[in-house]
Amino acid sequence: MISQELIEEIKQRLLKEKEELEAKIAKLKMPEEGMVNPQVDDIANDAEEDIYEEGMLHFYEKVLDKVNTALSRIEDGSYGTCIHCGGEIEERVLREVPWAQHCPKCSKGMHGEDNN
Ligand SMILES: [Zn+2]
Repeated sequence: MISQELIEEIKQRLLKEKEELEAKIAKLKMPEEGMVNPQVDDIANDAEEDIYEEGMLHFYEKVLDKVNTALSRIEDGSYGTCIHCGGEIEERVLREVPWAQHCPKCSKGMHGEDNN
């Protein structure tokens, strides 16, 4: 059984994480300034950068989604149980991945495919 203390601790971590992710996402979504007269070289670099930033944005949004899900599961009291089999997720797993939704058994069964 997961203690209230741990849940509270994790909740604080998740809230902080959420704040940081939202700030990062907002920054990535912000239009770039100061590129009024780009040189040809810069255009090429820019395209690469855009692809990179898009990837990061996608990644951050995915994590934010997990953080939000974890927070709502804390609210409804289902936090710390596996969404697949209902089994308990180990404390050490939750400390490592606070938004984990599957017990180790089930995440193994999913062959590492988006398994937390
Ligand atoms: Zn499970």
